[in-house]
Amino acid sequence: MAAMTQEAERKDWDTYFMDIAYMVSTRSRCPRRHVGAVLVQGKKLLGTAYNGAPMGVPDCSEEGCMIAEQLEIEVVDGVEKAVKKQRCIRTIHAEQNLLLFTDRIDREGSTVYVTDQPCWTCSNMLANSGIQEIVYHRAYPKDSEKVEKLMKAKGIQFRPLHGYEPPAQAGIQVLSE
Ligand SMILES: [Zn+2]
Ligand SMILES: [Zn+2]
Repeated sequence: MAAMTQEAERKDWDTYFMDIAYMVSTRSRCPRRHVGAVLVQGKKLLGTAYNGAPMGVPDCSEEGCMIAEQLEIEVVDGVEKAVKKQRCIRTIHAEQNLLLFTDRIDREGSTVYVTDQPCWTCSNMLANSGIQEIVYHRAYPKDSEKVEKLMKAKGIQFRPLHGYEPPAQAGIQVLSE
């Protein structure tokens, strides 16, 4: 009986790896956004990464975020509007760090679990990295349309994890933009 209960409570692989991605994201020192990503081959964890400044240089917690302002076009009720957006450019994105710290040969046919839907630049790099699947949790509508088109063209599985709840210990950050 106890064994059956245990089996019922056992996490599926998607939840298991997304939980790890969220725990990895807690290492980020950028107060604006905590992103975690993990590389998985079969059921094997091959790498973890989060968004952060390059090693050995001051990070956002030491010198504050490095803010860049950009005008972006947003469509609200079918009307295009220029909206001023602020982003922290001090950090290397989690997905890019993941690519910097893993080997191409390990990435061939692998899956990336990432807490947030990748931005355009990360998606473009992931599309050329050998990975075959991307699973994400939080949406990032800004680049969503062109990213989905790219993944389709490349034949990369690109799927949100619906009904998923991050582990309480990850202390979920609310997006500041
Ligand atoms: Zn920052
Ligand atoms: Zn990115």
